[in-house]
Amino acid sequence: MITHNLGVVARYADRVFVMYAGKVIESASAAELYANPRHPYTLGLLKSVPRLDEIRKEKLDPIEGMPPDLIRLGAGCPFYPRCKFHVDRCKEENPPLITVAEAHQSACWEWERVARATKGDQEAA
Ligand code: SF4
Repeated sequence: MITHNLGVVARYADRVFVMYAGKVIESASAAELYANPRHPYTLGLLKSVPRLDEIRKEKLDPIEGMPPDLIRLGAGCPFYPRCKFHVDRCKEENPPLITVAEAHQSACWEWERVARATKGDQEAA
């Protein structure tokens, strides 16, 4: 199933592949992905949709910017222009899928910072 509806994903998928600019940028079980996103794009997607299963505590947080022109992709990470976590390396080197936990991969050099940010959100909730 291919969808932009994260509610449908949560309800029906066992395993999720998040794609950006035509490539898989994160892969995990649905439960793991929703609890522990390890790519800034996935984190952004999760923060930008309303949740019906919990009381809203903060404003939705849209992902700024536009998707890249697929004909003019550079050498770096395609999410770089929109990414709040980017570092210099991201502009030059497109990360491969990195195993960040059992059966969980993320194509992000800064996945550990994303993990810390996610943990901070969960502790603040
Ligand atoms: S590799 Fe860099 S630019 Fe790409 S998602 Fe990770 S932090 Fe952001």
